[in-house]
Amino acid sequence: MSDLRELYQEVILDHNKKPRNYGELPEATHHAIGHNRLCGDRITIHLQVEDGIVTNVRFEGSGCAISTASASIMTETLKGRTLEDARHVFETFHGLVTGKGCPGGAAAELGKLAAFSGVCDYPARVKCATLAWHTFVAATKDQDAPVSSE
Ligand code: ZN
Repeated sequence: MSDLRELYQEVILDHNKKPRNYGELPEATHHAIGHNRLCGDRITIHLQVEDGIVTNVRFEGSGCAISTASASIMTETLKGRTLEDARHVFETFHGLVTGKGCPGGAAAELGKLAAFSGVCDYPARVKCATLAWHTFVAATKDQDAPVSSE
């Protein structure tokens, strides 16, 4: 298990150092801003949806390693999925980081997102790990007011 934890940590550090899909998205159809006051994480999600499918998603912002890595891996995970599927993945991921679905079969389904399974031992970090996801959901609903993961 400790090998797995190390591997997971590497995934998070790698995505924090080199965030994927970072930057603006001029062709975006949806946007939302998220803020986690507890930690100071801020994130903007740019989302392009066509016929109910996430064709592109990018993010900007600054925050701790967990929030940045989570956003980076989320963008990789969501591209090409339907909105319905994306919400299902979020539910599974949320269960994992809050400890409801951890450990167990959910990890396999989540791929790289399973790297956040250790977060369930640190309840204060759950908000960091889920900020990008809450912001994504807000973007799909075209909410204008900034969301917070509190
Ligand atoms: Zn944070």
